[in-house]
Amino acid sequence: MDQSPLISIVVPCYDEEANLSELYRRLTTVLRAMDNSASYEIVLVNDGSSDRTWPVILSLINADSHVVGVNLAHNHGHQLALSAGLKNCKGQRIFILDADLQDPPELLPDMMGLMDQGADVVYGQRLSRRGENWFKKTSAALFYRCFNRLADVRLPLDSGDFRLLSRRCLNILNAMPEQHRFIRGMVGWIGMKQVALPYHRQPRFAGATKYSFGRMLHFAADAVTGFSIKPLRLATYLGGFSALVGIIILVYSIMRWVEGDVVAGWTSLIATVVIMGSTQLLVLGVFGEYLGRLYIQAKQRPLFVVESIVTTQDLKKNG
Ligand code: UDP
Ligand code: MG
Repeated sequence: MDQSPLISIVVPCYDEEANLSELYRRLTTVLRAMDNSASYEIVLVNDGSSDRTWPVILSLINADSHVVGVNLAHNHGHQLALSAGLKNCKGQRIFILDADLQDPPELLPDMMGLMDQGADVVYGQRLSRRGENWFKKTSAALFYRCFNRLADVRLPLDSGDFRLLSRRCLNILNAMPEQHRFIRGMVGWIGMKQVALPYHRQPRFAGATKYSFGRMLHFAADAVTGFSIKPLRLATYLGGFSALVGIIILVYSIMRWVEGDVVAGWTSLIATVVIMGSTQLLVLGVFGEYLGRLYIQAKQRPLFVVESIVTTQDLKKNG
């Protein structure tokens, strides 16, 4: 008989101590109300939290054998923490959720219904985002639109990692070896039958966002470099354009020299140096972004380090 649970809920958690009990309560209410209620697991990944997230996870495991804890050895970031959970879950269908309750767990039955009709991926699509500031909303909206212009894979607009995946889709995702993971893009690349479920995003239940401006920039760079080499091509165009400007300035300088008017060329000289220098640095920077990722990928390190995986049975065994 197949022992694997029907549904795995996978939640990356970084300093989310104030959200976990409410998350567990709401998830469990939803899962118990569904058919097949015994057949689920809640995989909580502790991503090197510095607060009491791991002790809270342990107490949930102690009270309920549906809960499994994956403890990472240090902070790996959202996408790798999620990857660790996705590698270590056993369900036939996998529900990805954030710990902060911005995405309502109550949508699971609707997602299950859509999957019953044959979908491999049911992704939540945000109709609105409450409780997030103007900057976050605008930058996110802009990002999804720019990404689709640059990348070779189409990303549904305004959707995050909140989704239900089929096991066959997850197996392919887990087999993708890249270190800089942009999971929603990777799922988009896999293809198969993907269906949207529109919903309204809620404010965080507690705590603050873990995505600083710097982290958001990193995330966007991983997304674009992971799915497009167009920036490299743009770098070439830019190099070509600046070379053209350089030639025009050169011709102008020679003409002035022929006229015997050499010292007056100081401004154009400085302009040339600045234009050429900064363009070269910019182009080198773009190359560097790709080279750095290639370098890290070449090292073939494991994606994440799991310190321990804890189930209720383990806790009982150790007293
Ligand atoms: N997260 C994580 N590791 C990190 C940062 C975030 O596991 O280094 C988790 C976090 O606990 C949450 C999810 O990733 O469950 C999304 O993070 P957050 O809510 O801060 O992002 P936002 O919704 O503001 O984009
Ligand atoms: Mg959030």
